[in-house]
Amino acid sequence: MMIYDHILVRYGELALKGKNRGDFEKTLKKNVQHALKDHPACKVKRTYGRMVIELHGENPQEVMNKLSVIFGISSFSLAMKSMNDLEQIKETALQAYRQHEGEKATFKVSAHRSYKNFPVRSQELNRQVGAHILRNTENVSVDVHNPDVEVTVEVREQGTYMTCGRTKGAGGLPVGTAGKVTLMLSGGIDSPVAGYLAMKRGAEIEAVHFHSPPYTNERARKKVEDLTRVLTSFGRPITLHVVPFTELQKAIHAHIPSHYAMTIMRRMMLRITEQITTKINAKAIVNGESLGQVASQTLESMHTINEVTNVPVLRPLITMDKQEVVDISKEIGTYPLSILPYEDCCTIFLPDDSVTKPRREKAALYEKGLHFEPYIEKAVNNVETLTIGRSTAKTEVMDDLL
Ligand code: ATP
Ligand code: MG
Repeated sequence: MMIYDHILVRYGELALKGKNRGDFEKTLKKNVQHALKDHPACKVKRTYGRMVIELHGENPQEVMNKLSVIFGISSFSLAMKSMNDLEQIKETALQAYRQHEGEKATFKVSAHRSYKNFPVRSQELNRQVGAHILRNTENVSVDVHNPDVEVTVEVREQGTYMTCGRTKGAGGLPVGTAGKVTLMLSGGIDSPVAGYLAMKRGAEIEAVHFHSPPYTNERARKKVEDLTRVLTSFGRPITLHVVPFTELQKAIHAHIPSHYAMTIMRRMMLRITEQITTKINAKAIVNGESLGQVASQTLESMHTINEVTNVPVLRPLITMDKQEVVDISKEIGTYPLSILPYEDCCTIFLPDDSVTKPRREKAALYEKGLHFEPYIEKAVNNVETLTIGRSTAKTEVMDDLL
């Protein structure tokens, strides 16, 4: 008996306009190949408007699990391939149907003939394949309106593919097609979700994390690496920039009136992130802010913090309620890590008398006395850069920054 030996991958046609198509398909193929690294026998092939994966003995369920989280895929199906020959098509379609027989009693055949040189038209194919399945099975009937199994027959130039049913893909756009952004990644619940959503729209991310040893410990840092690793399962390996933030935080603590300390600290983070963004040629900064969620996320606060950069700051969570963010973080697997109780650099030193409506003029005035440029330069020069892959982390110091 034949078994499924291919997977047919479909992507949203709507997203594909004109010259973007080639880029979309090339990037998607690369991302699929990366996700299937542990399945070396798989061969990924582009055919016009579709992608086909030849399994060559790899476990179909494992491969489908990997595909289900790749952005840019709208749906996929297990498939069997036959040559463009009517008798072979009929027999292969029967074999495909047989995989589902037993549990299911009604079916319909839906043929699509995108290769017009094939002499049998779709309607005729429906009839011939349907009759062949009926002739070779028992207690089975055709139901064109509400079938248990829909046997699709796709005639393409290089062969005909039979599928029964389809699995919904992750949607979105392939990671990498929208260009690169930096993600301000804390150890909290929000920023990993913001990163996930940016990836879903095709952005490749590099993460920036601020830490303040010895006030934040190794476990807090490890947690951020682990969060980054979870995000890599939706794309390719991710570069993580760890910024030493202790000295700047101490200076803020010592010189800035406490009710403006948080605002100034955010402005410093953004300045440093901007420099990294420029250095790596990314085009926007993503963070996990949501409107009005906490004191630092009022419109006035964003207005004052945002003053220090011209780089677009994208806030994918801006309109979401906390519960919506929590739901997504559970779905994508970052939640259990995010709730681990390690100190974040933002929570130490910070008083709880922060103003909820900080003003630009005041922030600028307070900063004047700080002479912060050398601190920023030093922090940027000592950024540690790691590449987080799915299971290994390689460390190197990024000393050529600036
Ligand atoms: P999160 O759950 O992402 O920590 P939050 O609701 O706790 O968000 P804040 O602590 O006010 O909000 O942080 C707002 C945003 O600033 C974060 O979503 C993140 O993008 C960025 N941020 C905060 N702390 C850090 C940090 N230590 N390193 C990098 N980015 C940070
Ligand atoms: Mg936080």
